[in-house]
Amino acid sequence: MKLHELTINKAQQLLKGKEISSQELTRAVLDRIAQVEDRVGAYITIASDSAMKEAALADKEISKGNMAELTGIPIAVKDLICTKGIRTTCASKILDNFIPPYDATVISKLKKAGAVIVGKLNMDEFAMGSSTENSGIKLTRNPWDLTRIPGGSSGGSAAAVAADMCIGSLGSDTGGSIRQPASHCSVVGLKPTYGRVSRFGLVAFASSLDQIGPVAKDVTDCAILAKVISGYDPSDSTSVPKDVPDYTSFLTEGIKGLIIGVPKEYDTAKGLDPQVFAAITNARKVLETLGAQCVEVSLPHTEYAVPAYYVIAPSEASSNLARYDGVKYGFRDKDSKNLMEMYKNTRSKGFGPEVKRRIIIGTYCLSAGYYDAFYKKASQVRTLITDDFTKAFEICDVILSPVAPTPAFKIGDNADDPLTMYLSDIFTLSANLAGIPGLSVPCGFSSGGLPIGLQLLGKHFGEEVLLKTAYNFEQATGFHKKKPEI
Ligand code: GLN
Repeated sequence: MKLHELTINKAQQLLKGKEISSQELTRAVLDRIAQVEDRVGAYITIASDSAMKEAALADKEISKGNMAELTGIPIAVKDLICTKGIRTTCASKILDNFIPPYDATVISKLKKAGAVIVGKLNMDEFAMGSSTENSGIKLTRNPWDLTRIPGGSSGGSAAAVAADMCIGSLGSDTGGSIRQPASHCSVVGLKPTYGRVSRFGLVAFASSLDQIGPVAKDVTDCAILAKVISGYDPSDSTSVPKDVPDYTSFLTEGIKGLIIGVPKEYDTAKGLDPQVFAAITNARKVLETLGAQCVEVSLPHTEYAVPAYYVIAPSEASSNLARYDGVKYGFRDKDSKNLMEMYKNTRSKGFGPEVKRRIIIGTYCLSAGYYDAFYKKASQVRTLITDDFTKAFEICDVILSPVAPTPAFKIGDNADDPLTMYLSDIFTLSANLAGIPGLSVPCGFSSGGLPIGLQLLGKHFGEEVLLKTAYNFEQATGFHKKKPEI
């Protein structure tokens, strides 16, 4: 096996046994990036020099016998998580030259665990999108088929892991942005419970929905990363003071007796591709042969998830993005003659079309006289969606569903059709609205060889049940072992 193909788990063992060094591993990953980046386009910034320095330090620690969870392992990060001294753009022209003066809490945690930060990954601008086509910086292609999108908004995070351009990565998920690209690229992605992972240093899109999570080559790696980044942080008032279990310790427990809820509304969802449906049905059978029992559950407000989300997320975004005015951060228009003109020109030139669309929708929804009709109403719908899950989880431990209604589509196919793009988020948005954890694990391929992911949803702080179920499924099926030919 080539070094860049290693999992975190395997790399840990080899580093510990001194069979490889972190410098060798990091060099192998950087070489792999150099080999495929012009085709995949996963990275906005490659931090070669600092990565090699961190790898040298890691090797010193290892020689002294000091191994933490990620010592010496090259990890890449979505470009909306602040990294001290490394440009953080949110894939936006407005932050093109922004170098954060501090690390996000998850970055401090990665560093404390010994990780080597190899670079920053492409995404839809400000995480608004489902294909990474909204990046203001570059295009990312799906390593399984370079004519197709990798998913989004954490498209770079998923593509880089799938193409072995890092050993693991972090993404963020506001409405599906970890799970959906993980599904399209045949990797494992976890959106943790809202409040499980600190958002301090995550550039805010929709603060009541955003959550950082891992993207990994398999479930074990996903569990390792989840443990490292989780936990209470006094700098994020929405993070929850609750102990973090060792997620890896649950994986090998079987799933005999586990009750899996299958939402009846999901089978008939509009636009569900028959091959995705077949893969999910097969996954259900696999889980049953492993001892789980499937029961029908109902999530009756599912059809309102898309409209509720597309009021709440843009409303919060319009407020959060007000800070990019050319004064405090990043890009400033130089030709303006007065302050108002400078604000207008900076924002007109700095933001891309989708971000502008969201700001306009959000500002409208929050405006006096409309607030009750839109934001308040959507918040009420959100409560109904949360109640649906609470009721469903009275009779099941995990909910099973597709991640995306179709496999990855061709680049450009939906680019002029925001509504179709929004509707494709139908299976992922509810978890963010309810704040529950969701995971995507590879569950098959279409006849054209495109990856399909299975979504598992859990109770608040039920990450270990999701990881355990996914691990059992992964071991029984082995879809994660197949690699794109690139
Ligand atoms: N596709 C959704 C959107 O465009 C979700 C994005 C995300 O999770 N960041 O808003």
